[in-house]
Amino acid sequence: SAQLINGKEIAAQVRQQVATGVQSRLAQGLRAPGLAVVLVGNDPASKVYVGNKRKACEEAGIVSLSYDLPEDTSQQALEALIDELNDNPTVDGILVQLPLPAHLDADPILVKIRPDKDVDGFHPYNIGRLMQRKPALRPCTPAGIITLLDSIGTPYKGQHAVIVGASNIVGRPMSMELLLKGATTTVCHRFTRDLPRFVSEADILVAAVGKPGLIRGEWVKPGATVIDVGINRMPDGTLKGDVEFETAAKRAAFITPVPGGVGPMTIATLLQNTLYAADVLHVDQD
Ligand code: NAD
Repeated sequence: SAQLINGKEIAAQVRQQVATGVQSRLAQGLRAPGLAVVLVGNDPASKVYVGNKRKACEEAGIVSLSYDLPEDTSQQALEALIDELNDNPTVDGILVQLPLPAHLDADPILVKIRPDKDVDGFHPYNIGRLMQRKPALRPCTPAGIITLLDSIGTPYKGQHAVIVGASNIVGRPMSMELLLKGATTTVCHRFTRDLPRFVSEADILVAAVGKPGLIRGEWVKPGATVIDVGINRMPDGTLKGDVEFETAAKRAAFITPVPGGVGPMTIATLLQNTLYAADVLHVDQD
């Protein structure tokens, strides 16, 4: 049966590396990296996510600047804040927690963030750079998955990587990351015919759909590496992935649990991106 990929442990290592990187900046007389975290409104889940991000920053020595704006914030006011943060030399990263309240349009906000401060990696410039195989700031969840795959020594070249889900934040950038590594990639989505056939051909399977147990264990290729991005809250309060874990774990060589697999890597990668922005992209801001 499969070896578990311990995302919690690997994320802790990444966070420790970031903390060491921050210490070495301070030792050189450079400022600590700064991350501005913008939260609009009162969505309870968003509050939890933002709280976790701020706490992780502080533990790594990154200065977290909090901007909690009221639910009725105007598009104009939010855009003005982005302009201000873009010009602030102590800010290396700007994160706008999504989803925004319904009266706000996220796209113009995300495009306004300076690409060198776009630590979520959602700006069209950063997506374009990844597409052209010259990644700059990379979307956190797919980049964190590459860290997990690297940690088990995945031999990407020539492997068939199948990504189920084609969203802008996970599936699409994930396919680009795996292509960059030399895998042959297939992206499946809601219109794919015969999903089991594609899944059964995957050496590397990444499931990012948001439907509990959609991927049946018996579809998994023996010896495959299975990465489950799905986070589904069940009626009994527990979390389940997109992959039927028990049966898939009998066939796979490696598998991520939910929770404790991909989830912790996203925040760890956000911290990495913020340090990278400070160290590499903002040398002139010190
Ligand atoms: P999304 O809803 O934006 O995209 C879902 C994708 O799944 C779409 O491309 C759709 O075509 C595809 N899909 C839907 N039904 C399908 C089916 N029956 N067969 C094949 N494909 C199908 O979702 P998202 O934002 O990419 O998130 C996906 C899941 O990952 C969610 O559970 C989300 O909570 C989780 N997630 C986790 C993290 C993390 O671990 N940090 C980060 C982001 C998202």
